[in-house]
Amino acid sequence: MESAESVERSDAVASQRPLSGPAFRLISSQLVDWYRRPDQFDTFNRYLADKGLTVASRFLVVCSLVLVTVIMFLTRFSPQGPTTPHARTANAVIIVITVMMAVALSTRRNLSRSWSYAFVLYSEVGIAAAMLLYSNPLAALAHAVMFSVIGGYIAFFHNARIQSLHMLWVFVVVIGIVTRISVVENYSDVPVLIALTVLVGAAIYVIPFACQFIFSILGTDALNSQLDPLTGLLNRRGLADEVRLLLERSYANSALVVVAAVDIDRFKTINDEYGHTVGDAVIEKVGSRLVECAGPAALIARIGGDEFIIVDSGDQRSVDRLEQELQRSTVTAPDHSEVALSVGIAKVAGPFESPDDALIAYPTLLRRADRAMYAAKARGGHSVVLLTETD
Ligand code: GH3
Ligand code: MG
Repeated sequence: MESAESVERSDAVASQRPLSGPAFRLISSQLVDWYRRPDQFDTFNRYLADKGLTVASRFLVVCSLVLVTVIMFLTRFSPQGPTTPHARTANAVIIVITVMMAVALSTRRNLSRSWSYAFVLYSEVGIAAAMLLYSNPLAALAHAVMFSVIGGYIAFFHNARIQSLHMLWVFVVVIGIVTRISVVENYSDVPVLIALTVLVGAAIYVIPFACQFIFSILGTDALNSQLDPLTGLLNRRGLADEVRLLLERSYANSALVVVAAVDIDRFKTINDEYGHTVGDAVIEKVGSRLVECAGPAALIARIGGDEFIIVDSGDQRSVDRLEQELQRSTVTAPDHSEVALSVGIAKVAGPFESPDDALIAYPTLLRRADRAMYAAKARGGHSVVLLTETD
């Protein structure tokens, strides 16, 4: 249905002139879709891991930090750069933090979403601070081009909401620096100032959009075939592929493999009372809640209308934590009532002799988790049923 819709959409585009009303409506609906898209940090990292590109992408991020360090260092030797003692100290502090960040990013095995947010936040503040340190404000304006790297990063790893905040921040910083040049410094070459501002603005705003465009092309092939478009979680096919990779990685050293089957209680009544759009929003909320409940390495999939699966490998502590998190889990419906979940959890003891042994055990585990979920429903819902290994 999704693909039929997109074929219909592209036919509509082909038959419309670029500036016609339907074309505007199409573009605005695409922008709304883009704006609502969930944060793609996990999904994009998974995509990179699948393609064996994790190290290469990390390398690019570290390179951008090295580049910042080199630029900041060079400005120390310029009369246009930081000249006062305070500015030179601040410049040195930024260099040290940037180097520490580059070392941390190149040595950590797994980068969490919080790390990524910290990287973005530091870059936003660090670039703006670095601009303030130039004694020549035109050089500061040129330095703003560095924001385009962060915009590109957000386009791939995060979502449109963060991109919008980034663009707003960049707008404020650039307007601030242009005001300083034109009003405070009384710069008289207005055409050059306008040209430079347009050039910097174009780099800052066009690059993230270009990255977003590439991302949506990626999104239409391999990425989309593995993902649920509504929640950004894995779909049934993506889960099957990822489970194979997870078990191949962890069969020899995981004490337990755990599967949780989750189904929203009385979801039909939400659809009936508020309509499908609100139902969709509740499904998205449940998806985000499950991401919070499960560990960062867990696989989370939406495998049907209101059905989700979590697969993780770990130890008894991680199973207990997952159970406790899911036990408390509800999301708020539009009428402010709490939407509850029925959860069935099954586990199997590892380690396994071979990846094949682990893979053979998985379908039974999935069936047991499903059975446990129905047992939770039979109790009236809003509960978690945890099967022992012998159940
Ligand atoms: P139970 O407590 O027994 O789980 O009852 P329920 O009302 O949740 O019933 P069930 O799980 O069978 O209902 C799932 C409903 O989800 C049926 C279908 O109309 C609806 N649905 C399936 N896919 C989507 C979707 O993508 N969006 C929305 N809004 N609804 C969907
Ligand atoms: Mg249900």
